[in-house]
Amino acid sequence: EAKAEGRNTFRFFEPGMAAAFIARNQLETDLQAALRQEAFSLRYQPIMTLASGRICGFEALLRWDHPTRGPVAPSEFIPLAEETGLIVPLGDWALRRACLEAAAWPKDMRVAVNVSAVQFQRSSLEGSVAEALRASGLAANRLELEITESVLMQNAVAVVSSLMRLRATGVRIALDDFGTGYSSLSYLRRFPFNKIKIDRSFIVEIEDPEVAAIVRAIVGLGARSGAAITAEGVETERQLDRVRQEGCTEVQGYFFSRPLTADQARLFIAAATAADEAPRALIG
Ligand code: C2E
Ligand code: MG
Ligand code: MG
Ligand code: MG
Repeated sequence: EAKAEGRNTFRFFEPGMAAAFIARNQLETDLQAALRQEAFSLRYQPIMTLASGRICGFEALLRWDHPTRGPVAPSEFIPLAEETGLIVPLGDWALRRACLEAAAWPKDMRVAVNVSAVQFQRSSLEGSVAEALRASGLAANRLELEITESVLMQNAVAVVSSLMRLRATGVRIALDDFGTGYSSLSYLRRFPFNKIKIDRSFIVEIEDPEVAAIVRAIVGLGARSGAAITAEGVETERQLDRVRQEGCTEVQGYFFSRPLTADQARLFIAAATAADEAPRALIG
């Protein structure tokens, strides 16, 4: 019967699915409102140079404090912002905000900003970068853009020439989450990255000799091109020792610090600088 058939046709619209669809739509609407209301903020996670033990910079990480749901994880709202194109104004905001904040830090500290593939496709990233640098007065070589392989996957020729022009202005380019993609090694040949960030999943398993061998190989590749190698997500002293042994040049992770508010980051810098200068002050 037609009636029974009709019911069959729509059987896959389970109440749970409808609820999920509505919730997602609501989140999308909220995301748009949040951008207008500046409900986003940035956290800054320190990155340390292993050779000197000093802070070389911070990675800026987006946070969204939802009015009723509370904090929403980037893993939830970034994909939504990418799908809707909202990542373009949101990414521009993050870039401007991070550069303004970093301009107040000591001159040897950089800020790293994550850039989505969508920002390359749908906007003039070069224009946004130039504007953020101009408005903040931050030197170009103190800004680092973190991109993932997905950026190089689409329209690689256009993206690579855009990255080349950015590099020529002094902006540094880092390859983020290295090792998690499909054909990681080939991407290293497409562009001369200033930095390779080894994904946290490798650091978690660094005790596995095969994983350690992969980390060592990445370090070797980086050394040949002069790229810095950052170990992401270092949580324990043991992991710190291991990544040092394998030749990583920088570390980032909860072992040193969680992502901090801008105020906390300034205190973190002040404390590190004081600790650095204390022995010299005692000597005279
Ligand atoms: P990511 O760029 O790889 O950033 C590192 C992530 O690892 C951050 O997660 C950070 O909080 C987390 N993390 C750092 N140290 C540790 C550790 O020791 N242990 C563990 N378990 N986690 C650690 P977060 O802040 O949740 O950001 C997740 C991802 O969202 C980022 O990964 C990045 O891909 C994206 N994202 C964040 N902010 C932005 C942004 O402004 N623009 C774009 N396009 N993406 C962003
Ligand atoms: Mg990153
Ligand atoms: Mg990463
Ligand atoms: Mg990651």
